[in-house]
Amino acid sequence: MAAIATIESILRKYPREYVECRAFGHNWENLSGLVKHDYFSTVRGKKSYCESCEMVRYRWYLSTGKRFGPNSYDAPEGYSLHLDDYKDLDRLPTLEEWRGLALKRAGFRTSPNVETLSQKTRVRKSA
Ligand SMILES: [Zn+2]
Repeated sequence: MAAIATIESILRKYPREYVECRAFGHNWENLSGLVKHDYFSTVRGKKSYCESCEMVRYRWYLSTGKRFGPNSYDAPEGYSLHLDDYKDLDRLPTLEEWRGLALKRAGFRTSPNVETLSQKTRVRKSA
């Protein structure tokens, strides 16, 4: 098991938006139009785009609306992690560890002025 300190080495060179997407999910925007599947003529894909990391996703469908196979993705440059690029890692982070890294980057321990939910609500109501 890789120590937390070595997993945190990812933070030094992995883009912030990539960590956010891995930790909390992509911000998918559905794009109009359909794309053809490379091998199945009766299958069409709906294309979505992540506004945060620029990942592109294709969800495949039959004309009935039934989903077909796994999604396809075009990852942005540098999104895919290779252990060769992180010599001090012996495995990739778990989802929980990604979330921990994202929360650390967001200042979980260091931000002194984090508002409570009720404070945020009050601000919004008075605005
Ligand atoms: Zn994303």
